[in-house]
Amino acid sequence: MGRVIAVANQKGGVGKTTTSVNLAASMAATKRKVLLIDLDPQGNATMGSGVDKYDVPKTAYELLIDEEPIAQVTVKDTSGFFDLIAANSDVTAAEIKLMEFFAREVRLRNALAPVRDYYDYIFIDCPPSLNMLTVNAMAAADSVLVPMQCEYYALEGLTALIDTISKLASVVNPELQVEGILRTMFDPRNRLASDVSDQLKQHFGKKVYRTVIPRNVRLAEAPSFGKPAMYYDKTSNGSKAYLALAGEIIRRHEEENQAVAVD
Ligand code: ADP
Ligand code: MG
Repeated sequence: MGRVIAVANQKGGVGKTTTSVNLAASMAATKRKVLLIDLDPQGNATMGSGVDKYDVPKTAYELLIDEEPIAQVTVKDTSGFFDLIAANSDVTAAEIKLMEFFAREVRLRNALAPVRDYYDYIFIDCPPSLNMLTVNAMAAADSVLVPMQCEYYALEGLTALIDTISKLASVVNPELQVEGILRTMFDPRNRLASDVSDQLKQHFGKKVYRTVIPRNVRLAEAPSFGKPAMYYDKTSNGSKAYLALAGEIIRRHEEENQAVAVD
């Protein structure tokens, strides 16, 4: 059974899109079948996958609003390693149109039902707000992966975010879990970052990934090359970190599955 992971944080610029794209690419590099869903009308995950958001035939709009079958709205990333449902400004219209529907919260969940077993991992790149698109992502997901920067107030923001997620989950998806908390753009020479990182581990224990994503120029410049960093410089520290993260996530899931089998 595949796993659906929403990458979410109400704050912008924390590394949601970079994480979604590079994790999708890393999972695909380990031969997993991957679908990346761009739910942010900015379309950054689409461009980061090397797909032109201005020239893509279909987007999440057709999936959510027109109920087109998922195979018809899916394209390949530029290197052909993973599947993508694109986003552009049409997805803003989708957010508004969703309001007209009954059971508007579960449109994405219903749309994904036919392919949940086909993919090993489905990642959803959420917009930086708690709108109906994010609610759809939370309702469709098995878990939420929260990228965050270790800076002042980060802990407060995170506690509030996890509180919001659990309130939302109790309404639309009681099974929803926190997949993990990911430290992004990390600079170990920064004292504050190290202090916040320690506090994070104290508060959230094993939910904090051991893998840390360093601040790395390859990750920032990758979209201008039109492909995930992983696909043009495997040796960069950023690529290596996301590959390590993919390994950590896979190992966690294997351990969970074993635990379930023993029970
Ligand atoms: P979000 O989707 O949460 O808004 P992004 O993934 O778009 O965040 O990242 C915000 C900015 O920071 C982008 O310009 C991105 O290229 C850059 N960035 C993200 N992660 C890293 C990193 N590990 N090292 C350097 N730059 C990064
Ligand atoms: Mg983003």
